[in-house]
Amino acid sequence: VSNLSKTYQSAGRSLTVLDDINFDIEEGSTAAIVGPSGSGKTTLLGLCAGLDRASAGEVALNSIVLNTLSEDQRATVRNRYVGFIFQNFQLLPTLTALENVMVPLELHGEKNVKQRSLELLDKVGLADRGHHYPTQLSGGEQQRISLARAFSNSPRILFADEPTGNLDAETGAKVEKLLFELNRDAGTTLVLVTHDLELAAKTQRVIRLKGGKIISDEAASKSIHTQL
Ligand code: ATP
Repeated sequence: VSNLSKTYQSAGRSLTVLDDINFDIEEGSTAAIVGPSGSGKTTLLGLCAGLDRASAGEVALNSIVLNTLSEDQRATVRNRYVGFIFQNFQLLPTLTALENVMVPLELHGEKNVKQRSLELLDKVGLADRGHHYPTQLSGGEQQRISLARAFSNSPRILFADEPTGNLDAETGAKVEKLLFELNRDAGTTLVLVTHDLELAAKTQRVIRLKGGKIISDEAASKSIHTQL
């Protein structure tokens, strides 16, 4: 991420929410982005994942510079390399849990899509909920389905926005375990946004934002030490 800035335009006003952000996350590592509400964390994650376009500066996933790509090309890169877990799950309401997991695999042109999706549901402990629609699932279950969906294209990098934010302690611990397993077992780079400093401390790196700027960027244990 180099010299990245984002300015939103709304109601004739411009609001700069990210201002000249620079960092580099090593492939296969884990990192957390923390900071107060409104500091630009979700915006930053969206830009890194190619969900939105920067106002200035550059995001590169390995050597792929997202800013230079068309909308369609960015979608292709996302389908191929990126997983994203949204703060509010964003499951497709008209599809069942199983179908939600199947979508990225189908987009990716995979074989045995149903079987693989069932395995993913099993992995998140929801093999018996495949036929439920999102409204028929609890918040924690929806979050685990969104995790299964994010895992389904075996992403090289997974972005997770408050992955444990709305969950009870037990479900949060399950989700956390799945995320770190994916990093450990598949080498997926994990970048998460969280308000939970204990979770942040379990990553290798904590980037702290305030008012759209990075105010610290350090190894996790040291960062939490500073915070205390
Ligand atoms: P939280 O911890 O509350 O989720 P955050 O650090 O993730 O906050 P962002 O969601 O990135 O913060 O928002 C940063 C700022 O950008 C906020 O002040 C928000 O009001 C503003 N903002 C976000 N999206 C838009 C948009 N589409 N148009 C205009 N302003 C926006």
